[in-house]
Amino acid sequence: TPVPRVALVTGTASGIGEAVVRQFRELGHQVLAVDFNEQAKEKADAAGAAFYQADLTDGEACKGAVAEAIKRFGRVDILVNNAGIQHVSPIEDFPEAKWRQIVDLMLTAPFLLTQAVWPSMRQNGWGRIINIASVHAQVASPGKSAYISAKHGLIGLTKTAALEGGPQGITANAICPAYVKTPLVENQIADQARLHNMDEQDVVEQIMLKNAAVKRLIDPEEVSGLVAYLASDAAGAVSGSSWNIDLGWTAQ
Ligand code: NAD
Repeated sequence: TPVPRVALVTGTASGIGEAVVRQFRELGHQVLAVDFNEQAKEKADAAGAAFYQADLTDGEACKGAVAEAIKRFGRVDILVNNAGIQHVSPIEDFPEAKWRQIVDLMLTAPFLLTQAVWPSMRQNGWGRIINIASVHAQVASPGKSAYISAKHGLIGLTKTAALEGGPQGITANAICPAYVKTPLVENQIADQARLHNMDEQDVVEQIMLKNAAVKRLIDPEEVSGLVAYLASDAAGAVSGSSWNIDLGWTAQ
């Protein structure tokens, strides 16, 4: 049986983050779920997790989330940086405010949360930082400049945290999924269907799975299963790595 740990998970109202919270609770870990969306509170309650409402584009809110975890549970052993958004627009028209929001949420917040949990992990000589990146941390697609830049940056943060954390018992790894069945993707399917005047099934098959060898979307539980492994004692030798769950996308 796994050792019970204290985990802080961001972006837990739906999708991958919600699945990670459920998985951690099943393993007996204590969890602080952090999200700006009120609905995440109900989800956290249902899973038996604590909840902290925070807009993670705000640096003070990031620090507040970690302070809350330490106040409630006395430490943080596992940090899962998962909260994310998408905005699709060519570079020429990309709104500066959207760029800043995406970089703040998906790169600066993971940095500030890593910084804030570090003393607790160092003191305990044990820590796991798991960054939910994307296949778009490895390759680009048009129209997603901010998302792709933030995700590529997150791999750099992951590698640096791995180097600094190694001697202190802290590992850092990234997970790079292709399209996962979550509200983030369901909204994109609907948008693309409208944009290209296609039906949703064709959007999935012809656009989202165009580069996939395995022709299906990914389930959130397939990602949370890998999070659970990377958070375990068994993964102590794994650090600085990026794990693709990308249906074979980057094999070509
Ligand atoms: P989702 O939309 O279901 O969940 C994202 C969560 O982030 C939501 O709970 C939302 O409330 C929260 N969030 C958004 N802005 C926030 C803010 N400012 N402060 C706090 N919380 C905020 O999306 P998902 O698909 O589960 O995505 C989770 C992560 O996985 C993201 O980082 C995303 O980039 C990444 N990812 C998703 C896919 C995919 O296909 N779904 C693929 C690769 C990577």
